[in-house]
Amino acid sequence: MCGILGFQSDGKKRNRAEWRAVEAIFRSLFALNETRGGHGCGLLVSRAKKPTVVRHAVRADEFMTEAIDQMRCDDGVLSMVGHTRYATGSKRGSKQCHPFKDGHLRGFHNGVIGNDSDFGKFDVDSKAIWKAMREHGFDGIEKLNGWAALVWRDETDKRAMYLFRDGAPLAFSKQNGILWFSSDPKHLQLALGLKEEPKQLLEGYVYRAENATMTKVSDMIVMGARQTYQTSYVYGEKYTWKGREDYSALEGDVVVADDPGLATLETCEFCGDPTDRADMELAEFSGTGYFVCESCFAEAEDGLWEVNGKAIDFI
Ligand SMILES: [Zn+2]
Repeated sequence: MCGILGFQSDGKKRNRAEWRAVEAIFRSLFALNETRGGHGCGLLVSRAKKPTVVRHAVRADEFMTEAIDQMRCDDGVLSMVGHTRYATGSKRGSKQCHPFKDGHLRGFHNGVIGNDSDFGKFDVDSKAIWKAMREHGFDGIEKLNGWAALVWRDETDKRAMYLFRDGAPLAFSKQNGILWFSSDPKHLQLALGLKEEPKQLLEGYVYRAENATMTKVSDMIVMGARQTYQTSYVYGEKYTWKGREDYSALEGDVVVADDPGLATLETCEFCGDPTDRADMELAEFSGTGYFVCESCFAEAEDGLWEVNGKAIDFI
C-alpha cells in the first residue's frame, strides 16, 4: 500500500495567508498519509515550466522537514503531489521513490503491477506503467495486470494533471477553488474539515484536470486483474488475486451482464436512475462533485439546476 495526495489550483491569485492555508492542508494530508507507507516519500511541484521533484527514502515526518522550502506555495504553483511509499517486494532506496519519469510522463502509483516484465526490466513494478502509457497512450493502462491509483503530469500538456483509478482508492474534493485529492477519503475529510467523506473518482476512467476542473478524457479502461477475474464478479464478492484474498475491485458494483467489467450500473446522484458507468458525467454543485446521468448533466448545462439562484458549474 502506498498513498497519493495533493492539489491543483484554479490558477487565481491568492495572498500569502491564503497560500499558507493551502500549505497547511497539504502538510496535514502528507502527515496523515504516512500511515499508508513508511519506506519513502516523493514530491512533485508543477509550475508552468519546469517541475520540482524531491524523492527520499525516509518517513513522511522527516521528508516534510527536508522539503519545507519546496512545499511553499505561491501563485506560480499549478499543482503539488505527494506520495508515501510502501515497498512491495522491491528495494527501499531513494531511487525507488515516486514519481517516476518515462519520456514526457512523470507520475505516482498506488497499487501493484504483476506483469511489469512485459514492458522491460524494472527495479520497481510501477515504472512499467509510464512506459506502457508512453508507448500506447491510455490503452497502455489496459495492458497492465494489477490495480492502481495514478496521478501524473505530461510534459506535452504542462498545465494539466491526469488522474485514474482501478481497484485502488482515490478521493477528491474542491474547496475555495482548490481541487484536492487523496488515496484515503478519511484523510481528505479530516484535512478539509468536511462533514462527510468525499467521493472517489469513478473507476476505470482517465480524468484530466486543469485549473481545478476535471474532465473525463478516456473510454472505460479495465486493468488486467479485472479482465482475468471478471467471471467471478458478483456483487460484494471477495476473490483471490495473486494470493490477496481481500482484493475486491468491484465490491459494491451491481453486475448486469456476462461482461461485468464493461457493464456495471451506478446510480445517478441527482435523479436516482440506474445509469451505466460509461455514461456517468461529473457535475459540481456547491463545491462537491456528483456523478450524474447524461440527461441530468445536460439539464445542468442548460442552467436548469439552480439553487438559491446559483447555477451548477462543472469540474
Ligand atoms: Zn439523473
